[in-house]
Amino acid sequence: MADAGVVLSAPGQVALEEILVDAPGPGEVLIRIDATGVCHSDVHVVAEDGWGHTLPVLLGHEGAGTIEAVGEAVDDLAAGDRVVIGWKTSCGECSQCVRGLPRECKRPPAAPGRLHRADGADLMPVLRTGTFATRTVVPAVAAVKVPTELPPEQACLIACAVATGVMSVVETAQVWEGARVAVIGCGAVGLSVIQGARIAGASVVRAIDLDERKLEQAQRFGATDVGEGPVDFAFDVVGRKSTFELGLSLLAGGGTLVLIGLSPSGERAELELARLFGKRARILVSHGGDHLAREDFPRLAQWALEGKLDLAGMVTRTGALADWKEAFDAMAQGDVIRTVLTP
Ligand SMILES: [Zn+2]
Ligand SMILES: [Zn+2]
Repeated sequence: MADAGVVLSAPGQVALEEILVDAPGPGEVLIRIDATGVCHSDVHVVAEDGWGHTLPVLLGHEGAGTIEAVGEAVDDLAAGDRVVIGWKTSCGECSQCVRGLPRECKRPPAAPGRLHRADGADLMPVLRTGTFATRTVVPAVAAVKVPTELPPEQACLIACAVATGVMSVVETAQVWEGARVAVIGCGAVGLSVIQGARIAGASVVRAIDLDERKLEQAQRFGATDVGEGPVDFAFDVVGRKSTFELGLSLLAGGGTLVLIGLSPSGERAELELARLFGKRARILVSHGGDHLAREDFPRLAQWALEGKLDLAGMVTRTGALADWKEAFDAMAQGDVIRTVLTP
């Protein structure tokens, strides 16, 4: 059967189409996608005409699958292995990696030139992964084995929403036991921040969202309060002027604002420097929770199996690859926590 993928071919033009998938090269693996979550960042890629990726682009970056073949020099993975595909990996050679900061790697490895449109044109996979597809090719370092007990429909969420949300708490912000936390924007990433805060032992977890349904969900996932109040950590999962400024306004002395949400280009916020100084506030940027796929995915999968992380409850809608448009619409309407597509 021919391979298929959801392709952004020109600004505003997205369609499910036949794609060609090459055999993996040295250090690469070919993966059959079993499940892929539909993340806001894919909408961002479409809205920003590729978001830095060269068109045509293969969408999707939150995938789980099964290894079908491995290239030369791949000895820790084999056909049949169940994996989650990570978009944050490390090269081991850039200045950040050499400094011992692989989480801040500047050149995460890619597997360029393995995916094509039916006419042969190279496809650029979103964040080096391209999971809205029947199969994809990625560097072996991006394929992380997870226990087979974890269903792929749940495991795929670890690849972006859950890694971003949970690791923003435990890695980027390093929330301490007993801290007070606010989460602005309670979609899939926000609920993962809430779960991370619960795991970290936060004493207060405030959920803030304009959508009543999301506040109700937030309480099911561990929020202790709804609405504004003083906190030690505010997570802006939205990335707009209003949410950023709200997050800053909630900080108690010594508090930390963590920016997670992707802003539209040109978005600006204002802050009063004297107040920032007086509060000794910190502002951190969370790049996908500063996670590192190889180190963090096994831990997150284990937490899910132990019942500390609720992944099943986050999958509120499923569909086929052809349903990508309905999935985008459902996300825009706030009707879902996560849609998972099973190619
Ligand atoms: Zn994502
Ligand atoms: Zn590097």
